Amino acid sequence: LEVNRSTVIKAYQELKADGLVDSHVGKGTIVLSQAKQAALPDGYINPLPWYQLFTETIAGSNDNIIGDIMAITGGDDLISFAGGIPAPSLYPVEIMREIQADLYRKTSREMFLHSPVEGHYPLRESISYLLRQRQIAASAKDTVILSGSQQGLDFAARIFIRPGDTVLVEEPTFFGAIQIFRSAGARVIGVPIDQDGLRTDVLEALLVRHRPKFIYTLPTFQNPSGVTLSLERRYQLLNLAYQYQLPVLEDDPYGELYYDSAPVPPLKALDRHGYVIYLSTFSKSLFLGLRVGWITAPPQVLAKFAHLKQMTDLHVNTPAQFLLDAFIRRGDYDNHIALLRQEYAGRRDRMLEALGKYKVPGTSWNKPLGGYYVWCRLPDNIVRHKLVANAGKRRVVFLPGEAFYPDGTQGDTHVRLNYTFVNPDQIEPGIKHFMQAVRETATD
Ligand code: PMP
Repeated sequence: LEVNRSTVIKAYQELKADGLVDSHVGKGTIVLSQAKQAALPDGYINPLPWYQLFTETIAGSNDNIIGDIMAITGGDDLISFAGGIPAPSLYPVEIMREIQADLYRKTSREMFLHSPVEGHYPLRESISYLLRQRQIAASAKDTVILSGSQQGLDFAARIFIRPGDTVLVEEPTFFGAIQIFRSAGARVIGVPIDQDGLRTDVLEALLVRHRPKFIYTLPTFQNPSGVTLSLERRYQLLNLAYQYQLPVLEDDPYGELYYDSAPVPPLKALDRHGYVIYLSTFSKSLFLGLRVGWITAPPQVLAKFAHLKQMTDLHVNTPAQFLLDAFIRRGDYDNHIALLRQEYAGRRDRMLEALGKYKVPGTSWNKPLGGYYVWCRLPDNIVRHKLVANAGKRRVVFLPGEAFYPDGTQGDTHVRLNYTFVNPDQIEPGIKHFMQAVRETATD
């Protein structure tokens, strides 16, 4: 495991704050003896030894990859392929302003009151309209509104995982999910993927061996690989789920952002027996900052999500729900998605073109048909942290592949490149610098 300098410094600072070490410039850091720790002046109160109070699961989870990325994506001169953020220049700010003014004028004080725990009912209806477009037949009552799909992952972990349980995920998969399931005490086991998505041919052996509590899957325009699970494999996955009584947690933030034709239907649309729990979000189609997502699930499961919602934070903030509902009902959502499909297809093309133009031997990548990411294979002899440093010198950032693997040791053969966030004119220079860094690192 690699530990960076700032982590070590932070650890020393915490030990010092806990009164366990002392440091002096020129002398280094020493561990204070019990006697010295005890012989403190009158009236001195020992700082709380926080680290002894944390539970095992949270004490062991120090990696803050999401926070680190959020910090990175802020820099001015930086070309960031790292985040999974929609294009800021395309945010429908004017329309939102108009809707908001209208809402303030027309609605009574209702917009500032509590919403029901399950969510503002009209928004739940609007979501069933969006679901119908994805071929999912669900009524408003089948959905609970959440604070982003991240909250759905957290709730799923709290509902289903006992410490020591196994959860299956694609390998690679969304790092946030790995983090959440692990912090609930799960053993997270990866199922390999190929260009047609999850390898259903190896799934059965894993089901027999590990008896997982559920499988977490991103079947459409997967994060980070961009691949989509084929229709044939969707049926294979569902049939295995039925055979082994396996709940399927389907995460679908990207499915509607297709570039050519609509992708195959979500697992939820194909499931005839209520085995699929479906999660989605407005974060990738509108704004990350809204923090609005939802879950569509069988009634018994939905009741548990609603109960957790009530215990956790009562409901999603009411003004955001009113705003979104009006945006969908006016037809603005459909127009916006149409615009994103067109724009992101262009950005994807620019990235693929640039990758081809500056290609270094040993690199290869997929052509995503939707979503946010290119998953780029690196030459074999690349040392990942040197590549990050070399690209950083050229002011380019991306996400190293290993974050997406449950065991953390694999994945340094790949990097994830996002093309939705950067200014389109920066894509070519950014990829040029990225490939220069790859070349430099490979020949180092
Ligand atoms: N799942 C996946 C696959 C994601 O990529 C993300 C966002 N990076 C999330 C869930 C969380 O999204 P939200 O903002 O809705 O919590």
